[in-house]
Amino acid sequence: MPHLYAIAIGSNRPHGRHGRPQQVVEAAIARLDEEFGLFDAAPIVLNPAHGPAGRDFANSVALVESDLQPPELLNRLKAIERDFGRRPGRRWGPRVLDLDIALWSGGAFRSRRLTVPHPQLAKRSFVLDPLAAIAPNWKIGPLAVRHLAARLARKPPRG
Ligand code: AMP
Repeated sequence: MPHLYAIAIGSNRPHGRHGRPQQVVEAAIARLDEEFGLFDAAPIVLNPAHGPAGRDFANSVALVESDLQPPELLNRLKAIERDFGRRPGRRWGPRVLDLDIALWSGGAFRSRRLTVPHPQLAKRSFVLDPLAAIAPNWKIGPLAVRHLAARLARKPPRG
């Protein structure tokens, strides 16, 4: 039986070929579909940057099926990030794409390098909101994704 993974996708820098962050996220979703066979993808949300110097983020979450275990899947995601890591005029610019494992169907996974569910998940509306659009009933402990998203919307964390 393949595992189901929820992959959090984020970009806040333009890419030479793909364009603006929203288009980078679209291209990343297409790439995940090519590599893994996409189960579903949430509508892309735009989130304002924190602070005056920041750049706006585009975020989404994709559901993919894979036989890989979390460490191997993370390696594949890192390779995709590196592929997208080029900015106009720079051979090796800062990363334009961030891919995290938010959840997997195997429950909890923990190693030195990797913790699933993602440790910041319950605090990140930019992951929980798209996730709630495609997997509202996925349980994390006693609460479903939609409950965590609703709780965060009512009581955003401080700081
Ligand atoms: P970042 O560059 O901020 O996305 O951090 C990536 C690093 O965080 C990875 O190289 C992993 O070793 C570690 N990490 C721990 N848990 C996770 C997770 N659930 N998904 C992705 N990376 C994780």
